[in-house]
Amino acid sequence: MLTSVLAMAHHAIADVLGDGDLAVDATLGNGHDTLFLAERVGPTGHVLGFDVQAAALTQTRRRLEAHGVADRVTLVQAGHESLDAHIAADRPIQAVMFNLGYLPGADKATVTRPATTLAALESACALLAVGGRISIVVYVGHEGGAAEADAVAGFLQSVDQRSFQVIRYDFINQKNTPPYLFLLEKLKPYHS
Ligand code: SAH
Repeated sequence: MLTSVLAMAHHAIADVLGDGDLAVDATLGNGHDTLFLAERVGPTGHVLGFDVQAAALTQTRRRLEAHGVADRVTLVQAGHESLDAHIAADRPIQAVMFNLGYLPGADKATVTRPATTLAALESACALLAVGGRISIVVYVGHEGGAAEADAVAGFLQSVDQRSFQVIRYDFINQKNTPPYLFLLEKLKPYHS
């Protein structure tokens, strides 16, 4: 079987993330990505996680504690568009994960939205270390999902190819509008 979208995101991030690194989970949700990042950066690394819903922070904290890694994670109840305010400009981020849409089982009105998603993505691109990666899983099945996915795609298509590689991983023949994945890697600064 081909690797699922979520597993591919983990695979691509795991390739560049290791002990002592700084990583960001831009959408905590149920905390699966946060746990993955926390395990990957080890006891000397750090993970910063954002979500606007208290329920997402509670769920994530519970998951991290159950695995004994809560001490290396800072959970912030705020929108990921405030990323800049929570990161020291001199500490590059090695990996950022976005899992867009709404929290399964929670209020579907609390959903990621194009303007704030793009603001966060721009900050993430600026703060990313050279060689660092960003993963974005987009969902098109819910109201507003397709518009958000298009906004993300439009932004990523306009990113300078000398600064970032951008790819899309997508199961293109599935009937039920499955989620798909964008991956970015930051390249060495370009000198003309
Ligand atoms: N769609 C995924 C889960 C995504 S969870 C799935 O089906 O598995 C997305 C999370 O993003 C939710 O917990 C939601 O509260 C959060 N969110 C919404 N707007 C946000 C924002 N501006 N900043 C950070 N998190 C946000």
